[in-house]
Amino acid sequence: MKPQVIVVGSFVQDLTWNCANFPQAGETIIGTFSTGPGGKGSNQAVAAGRAGAATLFIGAVGKDTFAGGARAFYKAEKIGARFIEKPAHATGTAAILVSESGQNEIVVALGANAHLSKADLPAKLFAGAQVVVAQLESNLAATAHALKSARAAGATAVLNPAPMRADFNPAILKHADILIPNETEFTALVNLLPITGIKDFTESQLSALGDDDIHALARTFGPRVVIVTLGKRGCLVSQESGYTFIASHKVKAIDTTGAGDAFVGGFTAGLVKFKGDFLAAARFGTVVAALSVTKRGTAPAMPHAREIAAFLK
Ligand code: ADP
Repeated sequence: MKPQVIVVGSFVQDLTWNCANFPQAGETIIGTFSTGPGGKGSNQAVAAGRAGAATLFIGAVGKDTFAGGARAFYKAEKIGARFIEKPAHATGTAAILVSESGQNEIVVALGANAHLSKADLPAKLFAGAQVVVAQLESNLAATAHALKSARAAGATAVLNPAPMRADFNPAILKHADILIPNETEFTALVNLLPITGIKDFTESQLSALGDDDIHALARTFGPRVVIVTLGKRGCLVSQESGYTFIASHKVKAIDTTGAGDAFVGGFTAGLVKFKGDFLAAARFGTVVAALSVTKRGTAPAMPHAREIAAFLK
């Protein structure tokens, strides 16, 4: 089936150690281990695919066991994937420490993801796609190229500017129709973009802002639609004609890791389902994100279409 949603982004093998407390420098402690598929791009592709969109994930991996695991995972999920092999590089990995109190410390090695190239993304890949979504966890030049190609193919280009990076070039924003930052990324963009005229803006200042002010700042970013996700509060959808606040659903949150990925993946599936109506899509993304926080993990926590339908009944 021709993909409706194409996700160009990262695959990262999550290597997770649960421990009572984080080890101090020089200390060795005993913990428990689990591993699974991760990476922002991949998590978003799984969310979109499980939510019901014909989805294709495109990302770079190494020639190693983790790449084999990634292929097997997508096959089992019945989600399309085009893994571009970079034999000289390792598949991306994330070392995640989770303490008993639920805090985490993470080191990501991008590995092959950093070597995705424009040549890996020929224009014909994007033909017929309705939505193309990218993040900042892959090669940045290839990411900008993917968004440009998406538009050239008549698709809606969505950028989730995560994680914000020191080498981020704001020029990429002009290639996005829809931008989806969380509070951390929104704060970084306010500080980075000269047009806002603001420096040293903080997340606590953002949480003290009214929705009118968030909307006014979002309008300076460039993309015609900016959706600011505001954690368990919900999200604010800003467009030229005004803004709409969408409250999150009250659920029993067990693990909010990956809520943003669930939202973005659910949103893109919603764009297809609701034929480009981005408010309806944002409401759908809000449901997908709420269901994802009721389960542990990232990709495994993404809800299937039947669970979404049951929630909406
Ligand atoms: P990120 O994971 O990138 O930090 P957010 O924390 O902003 O992203 O969460 C993304 C979306 O997930 C929110 O807009 C909201 O709809 C939903 N969400 C997050 N936390 C909760 C929660 N505790 N309960 C219900 N929905 C949530």
